[in-house]
Amino acid sequence: MSHCNLSLKSVGYRYSGNHHAVQDITLDLGPGILGLLGPNGAGKSTLMRMLATMTRPTTGKISWNGDDLATAPNTLRHTLGYLPQDFGVYPALSAREFLGFLAAVKGLSGAKAKERVDTCLSLVGLNDAADRRLGEYSGGMRQRVGIAQALLNDPALLIVDEPTVGLDPEERMRFRHLLTDLAGERLVILSTHIVSDVEASATSLAVMVGGALRFHGTPDALIAKAEGKVWEWTITPEQLPEVRKAFMLCGSLRRPDGIRVRVIANERPHAEAQAVMPELEDAYTWLTASGPSAGAH
Ligand code: ADP
Repeated sequence: MSHCNLSLKSVGYRYSGNHHAVQDITLDLGPGILGLLGPNGAGKSTLMRMLATMTRPTTGKISWNGDDLATAPNTLRHTLGYLPQDFGVYPALSAREFLGFLAAVKGLSGAKAKERVDTCLSLVGLNDAADRRLGEYSGGMRQRVGIAQALLNDPALLIVDEPTVGLDPEERMRFRHLLTDLAGERLVILSTHIVSDVEASATSLAVMVGGALRFHGTPDALIAKAEGKVWEWTITPEQLPEVRKAFMLCGSLRRPDGIRVRVIANERPHAEAQAVMPELEDAYTWLTASGPSAGAH
């Protein structure tokens, strides 16, 4: 996997009916884990479908190692792993049978296919359950089968679209660890609207709001943007509705002496408010909730 460069130049997508789902996105990506964050409707899935060569941009250009995906999609397709949001499995098949079937579809056969299926099953920790019917699997196990199928061709680009939706906290955690293990030399793009999904694993973050790219950089760079804007002080329970109305509230903690509120504000919001170190969640909230100028340098 010597080459791993995905380049987007002014990429846009417009559904019929004049809706701009993705607008003017320029990005240059190499090996690592990119967390693609954004609220529901931000355009993440639409962008992922273009990156996975399922649809073409209506404006701009995407290239993989210099090859334009619009005219030469196959170079990427051979080395692409994709877990779409609506990934379905055949409930009557075992994981081993299902992956064997998909390996054959991808052109692997015989001993090589068997070996690869075994490798992928062990990568996602499903060896012991490999011969059980998929219908009996939990949501988290099914998602791991989804990752296993995306890994069959040992992809240089792995795209996973909102993989943690519907998982319980334990499965969610397991899934995050799995993705960290898989990164290596590849480019992994993971979309989510939940900051903690990518907090520990992402080497870079891209934040989309309303179809546009609001931020691209390291998690630390995003956190730095909220420095001096996160405040905490203690209020009475009665004051909570008022504070919620007046400020961008990003947390509240009940304590014996009242409620400790955490607020994002450009200026000190209250005489007793203390500036605190921002966390990624604060910075993301600030970026997505403030106007378009928030992401500007
Ligand atoms: P996300 O994945 O961030 O939730 P999507 O890419 O699914 O965002 O959607 C981006 C925007 O495009 C939304 O406003 C959505 O309503 C719209 N959209 C998505 N799919 C279609 C479609 N097939 N036809 C028309 N509009 C769509």
